[in-house]
Amino acid sequence: MAMQKCVECGHEISAQAKACVNCGHPLKRSSGARILMLIVGIPVAGFAALVIFGAIIGPSEVSLRERIDRSCQEQFGDRGEAAVTECRLRLSVEALGQAERERLERARNGGR
Ligand SMILES: [Zn+2]
Repeated sequence: MAMQKCVECGHEISAQAKACVNCGHPLKRSSGARILMLIVGIPVAGFAALVIFGAIIGPSEVSLRERIDRSCQEQFGDRGEAAVTECRLRLSVEALGQAERERLERARNGGR
């Protein structure tokens, strides 16, 4: 078990103890553990937010990616992973451009 020194009297006490057994001085958890929790916690929270955000955006986004994956796998599956990845990237950019064009078109029609 981890031990720590009481800041008040220097007595060795368990890190789990809430107060020093010698002088009764209340103990705080080591700040190192708190910093570690922050370092680990923030990316984990960020990742969770991304997952939730993805769930809110909805299934259309997912099915588009699946469609791209499938068609690239069919066309370039026998040429190796790099060719499939390249195809995926190209189709993703195309899909983004298409979505952007549709958005502009709608904005132009709706503006009148
Ligand atoms: Zn003490």
